[in-house]
Amino acid sequence: MNVLKELKEKGHILSMPRIAILRYLLEHKTHHTAESIHKALEQEYPNLSLATVYNTLKLLSREGFIRQLHISENRTLYDSNTKPHSHFLCRICGKIEDIWENEKTNFPKEINGNLIEDVHTYYFGICRECRKKYEKGQSH
Ligand SMILES: [Zn+2]
Ligand SMILES: [Zn+2]
Repeated sequence: MNVLKELKEKGHILSMPRIAILRYLLEHKTHHTAESIHKALEQEYPNLSLATVYNTLKLLSREGFIRQLHISENRTLYDSNTKPHSHFLCRICGKIEDIWENEKTNFPKEINGNLIEDVHTYYFGICRECRKKYEKGQSH
């Protein structure tokens, strides 16, 4: 794994749980919370603490291997798919979906003298499933 090599070169100590978390993230390229990762790995790693998951996620996001999403106020989400894409949040069911249109791959590298490193686009609304339910309810 390239990520492992890179992290080692940066001087990070990679314990077994950290490697397990990293492997899980690379195999599941979607949105995660510390809790969901902890749940997925606790069977195999009974000693894995939630704090270790939190710290590892913070480290990986600081090093740019995953992206922290600021879409939801009550959940800290991490995206292990680092290809540039936008996100949609349904305000009814809370579902988060990847949006691949309007990929911001060519954003300006500098605006008003500020160095731009990243851009996140978040869309908020009602997902198609919730719309269906709502529209059905309306017709009765
Ligand atoms: Zn919904
Ligand atoms: Zn995503």
